[in-house]
Amino acid sequence: MRVAIETRQLTKAYGPDLVAVDRLDLQIEAGSVYGLIGRNGAGKTTTLRLLMGLIHADSGTAQILGQDLWKAPPELRQKISYVSQGHMAPDWMTLEDLCRYNAHFFDRWDQEYARSLARRWDLPSNRALGKLSGGTQRLVALATAIAARPEILILDEPASGLDPVARRALRVCLTEILSHGDGATLLLSTHLLPDLERLASHVGIMDQGRLVAEGSVEDWQRTLRRVQIVFDGTHPPANFVIPGAIRTRTTGPVVTALIRIENESQLDPVRQISGSRVLIFTLSLEEIFVEFFDCSIS
Ligand code: ATP
Repeated sequence: MRVAIETRQLTKAYGPDLVAVDRLDLQIEAGSVYGLIGRNGAGKTTTLRLLMGLIHADSGTAQILGQDLWKAPPELRQKISYVSQGHMAPDWMTLEDLCRYNAHFFDRWDQEYARSLARRWDLPSNRALGKLSGGTQRLVALATAIAARPEILILDEPASGLDPVARRALRVCLTEILSHGDGATLLLSTHLLPDLERLASHVGIMDQGRLVAEGSVEDWQRTLRRVQIVFDGTHPPANFVIPGAIRTRTTGPVVTALIRIENESQLDPVRQISGSRVLIFTLSLEEIFVEFFDCSIS
């Protein structure tokens, strides 16, 4: 595997009792889409800032394309686009100004692509950015990050503030970039898990500064099932257990369980539980995330 982004034992504290990123080991393969998810305050933004060399780590390393951005030469920075949660460009600038500025700064700047994104996303070229709506400003930041044709694209909550149509347009565009096959690597943090599910090859779950679970969405969806067993009576039979359950919850005659499987035939004993109606569901990434924090399925 060719690693594009890597952290080793990366640590950043904002005070004696606030370790925002805690000995984080992360390896992201070149050409992949990696989604960093976690509850509010889990340390996602801090991780991205450390990777971008915007803040200094207390210990450990953070590297993009084999180099620490805190010390990296400008040539390396050209290969990386980063969209943070806040504003990036001065309010008085227009999209056209910003494109002109970026054309000087990024070797691979693609003016034609910037124009086409502006058309597709309905972005005004000559209005001051400060006068645009929050969502439109966000799209401007994303369009200019993408038109730089980066090798590495790092997006912190890219879809926050975007309406559903704009979110879809962004997703289509990111899929296009990735399908060009030029090896671009995308790392994004997001709370919009249905969007991520359609895009990410890998997902890492952060909690209290640590990576607590990591995997491919496909693997998680292949190996996890929610099973609901509805018994005829008012309660399940005494001492009833569901084979293979990671967690079980009982409400009246209904038993709900989370099961990890390697193949579908492992569910046969569940399907055959007598005196009951059995329903088996696959889980969305959002459901997996919620289950994770409910019961630690790592
Ligand atoms: P969210 O999903 O809400 O954006 P996050 O996972 O991105 O959260 P971070 O923004 O990285 O989390 O914050 C991690 C922790 O570090 C939080 O407890 C936050 O309050 C704290 N923190 C972040 N930046 C600073 C700062 N500049 N000074 C002090 N504490 C900070």
